Amino acid sequence: MDMNRMLIKQGRVIDPGSGIDKICDILLENNIILEVSDHIELEGMSDGKEINAKGLIVSPGFVDLHAHLREPGFEHKETIQTGTMAAVKGGFTSVCAMPNTSPAIDTPSMIEFVKMKSATEGVCRVYPIGAVTKGRKGTSIVDFLELHEAGAVAFSDDGDPVYDSEIMRLALEYVGPLDVPIMNHCQDLTISPNGVMAEGEVSDFLGLKGIPNSVEEIMVARDIALAKATGSKVHISHVSSAGSVELLALAKEQGLNVTSEVCPHHLTLTDENVLTDGNYYAATPDSAYDTNSKMYPPLRTHSDIESLIQGIESGIIDCIATDHAPHDVVSKHTTFDDAAFGISVFETAVGSLMGLVQQKKISLNRLIQTMTYNPCKILGQNFKDFGTLRKGSVADLVLIDPDVTWIVDTEKFVSKGKNTPLQGATLTGRVVCTIVNGNVVFDELGWTEGEVN
Ligand SMILES: [Zn+2]
Repeated sequence: MDMNRMLIKQGRVIDPGSGIDKICDILLENNIILEVSDHIELEGMSDGKEINAKGLIVSPGFVDLHAHLREPGFEHKETIQTGTMAAVKGGFTSVCAMPNTSPAIDTPSMIEFVKMKSATEGVCRVYPIGAVTKGRKGTSIVDFLELHEAGAVAFSDDGDPVYDSEIMRLALEYVGPLDVPIMNHCQDLTISPNGVMAEGEVSDFLGLKGIPNSVEEIMVARDIALAKATGSKVHISHVSSAGSVELLALAKEQGLNVTSEVCPHHLTLTDENVLTDGNYYAATPDSAYDTNSKMYPPLRTHSDIESLIQGIESGIIDCIATDHAPHDVVSKHTTFDDAAFGISVFETAVGSLMGLVQQKKISLNRLIQTMTYNPCKILGQNFKDFGTLRKGSVADLVLIDPDVTWIVDTEKFVSKGKNTPLQGATLTGRVVCTIVNGNVVFDELGWTEGEVN
């Protein structure tokens, strides 16, 4: 019998799903986790590969509830192949792909397309999210049952909100029995429709149209009310404002079926990062801003960040999701008003989030929980063997070097999207090895040299 065994030795194993945080060994056999224990030896086993993980963190592979892989339709921005390569470089072993492609993912055959492409060209697991409305036009709902049976793990019109409240209510009534969430991009389209960055001192300084926090909070409040009315699962995408965190706290207090996510950039950057080099003095009439800091929702203020961090620490916010939104150079090489919304996140997520751990703002355990166990819980029963290192669960893992310091260089990105405000930033902490289904899919330490046989 052909056994594929891998022993990961003496890493700091952190698995919030099973309450483990200690230095120990993990044995993988084929695609499952066979044993987690203080000392395991490969002796007597006929084959196997041994990995020395001393000084490294060993975590379940990250599960991203929110990414844009751009295929089909926008292959010049990203493909399922380049997107998943970037994902595993960032430690993500499962990625939920948003349906704002062209055409939109709103039929079973489109779900099949994403699954087929992922199976043949992807290097991590890809789970399609189906659109809520046909063509993402917001006017008539899709056949949720049909899409769910084809493989849609959730539904969203992301890029746009499900704006019509009756459509949102109806959609929630339909997805309720399927036990999957509707993930909403919360944006009141009537307030500041042409806004491009957070409303505040920086938008005033730059003369750019601001987006106030209320734009988000109004729809968060509506969606909480609809979750209460229907009992169905509502997931608030990319929370960015302190007021939204207050609303989510009330929803959690009432025990409603409401979950949420926050993106790494909304936890680490402010609207000041829109300024060239992050400060007022670097601004010149020719180059006052960085279009790579333009995304939706926008980067907000220090006090918003503090609330979001507290939301993660307290459990009011359930997960960290990337909203990886790669763009071609031309989409960003223009005025701030005309530049596309979105940044490339996979390859910098861990490095920037580890900064919060180093500053003792978020605990490492909590960080890992929000990127592994919690997103799987939101996805439901089919994901119970993912996002954890419990014996018998799926062998998706990531090894992180928490001490390595590196400089972000978009030229080295495997994502086609080089659009990040972190270009040139110094980060500490990086993914060094990613394992999907028992196979090493990203490796910066030359593990293969350690093969026993
Ligand atoms: Zn969105």
